Amino acid sequence: MKRRKYYDVPEDNVITLRNVYKSYTKGTPALDGISLDIREGEFVFITGDSGSGKSTLIKLLLRELEATSGYINVLGYDLGTLKHRKIPKFRRNLGIVFQDFRLLENRNVFDNVAFAQLVLQVPKYQIKRNVPDILKTVGLADKYRSKAEELSGGEQQRVALARALVNKPLILLADEPTGNLDANNAWEIMDLLEQINEQGTTVLVVTHNLEFIEKMHKRVIRMNQGVIVEDEEGGIYDDERY
Ligand code: ADP
Repeated sequence: MKRRKYYDVPEDNVITLRNVYKSYTKGTPALDGISLDIREGEFVFITGDSGSGKSTLIKLLLRELEATSGYINVLGYDLGTLKHRKIPKFRRNLGIVFQDFRLLENRNVFDNVAFAQLVLQVPKYQIKRNVPDILKTVGLADKYRSKAEELSGGEQQRVALARALVNKPLILLADEPTGNLDANNAWEIMDLLEQINEQGTTVLVVTHNLEFIEKMHKRVIRMNQGVIVEDEEGGIYDDERY
């Protein structure tokens, strides 16, 4: 594990932030001094108003952006000193799903999921085994020949989830994964995320949906204007703020 000597990273943390600032321009920073510990195997909701810094946090964790100052360690990688050529290897450990699915629309379900393995040069015979396995996990085993654009929103998000999971990431980041779905499909995705977490993957979910937060009793981190204003185990929430 690569660690800077002067930061104490707890042994079972998969994500550690210490005093992280991120400014895009002069003026109020998007992240205004964040410290955070996420342990292996946790399921964490990240919530807060639009503009509070949630996406910036996700982009920093993916190393799409660099912090202006502060320390970020993900899975033992110090992101402040991570060399560009090492970023792809680092990212293999992370799965990501977005609100808008981001599938290859004119390709079929199998190809969309296989793509994530092809870029890692996984041998074809393994891809042929792995893709049906993961499609079974998300309940789409019988749809592998369907084109992405022919699927419902809920099915498309399940394909996106399969694509995020096929390389067996240690951490799954989901940025508003149910934002484009109706209530039933949203719950199906949330149930899948919970199952995936129960199998050991650390899961971070950005959401505005209070129903999930209230009913699922997970850790909830609430952000406001670039800082963490609440960090509660078990989804206990003060409704008056909403
Ligand atoms: P959230 O995901 O909670 O909606 P963001 O992380 O997208 O919040 O944004 C936090 C703040 O940073 C907002 O004030 C937003 O306007 C600003 N911001 C986000 N991305 C950029 C960017 N690429 N350039 C300049 N400002 C940005």
